[in-house]
Amino acid sequence: MDPATARMRLQSLLDELDRSIGALQEADPLDADRAQAVIDVASQHRLAVLDALRRLDDGGYGRCVDCGGLVPEDRLEARPEAARCVQCQSRRERRR
Ligand SMILES: [Zn+2]
Repeated sequence: MDPATARMRLQSLLDELDRSIGALQEADPLDADRAQAVIDVASQHRLAVLDALRRLDDGGYGRCVDCGGLVPEDRLEARPEAARCVQCQSRRERRR
């Protein structure tokens, strides 16, 4: 994916997350617990997107932050904020 496209997609993802986090923060107090859980997930996602935008600026975008290998194009298509190749990501998830 070329950097301009990646930036555009990350930016719109960020706008979307900001909007839904904002909407959730105004949720009915009765739903506050559930809203907070969704906000937590969205905030994590938002951080990942911001991180990807930073890597775009650094020129490290599209490379796995663990092994330095190229992150496959189809993975970036599905998740433009992906920081790791499939192998490193699943290794990381197994460790949890
Ligand atoms: Zn890797």
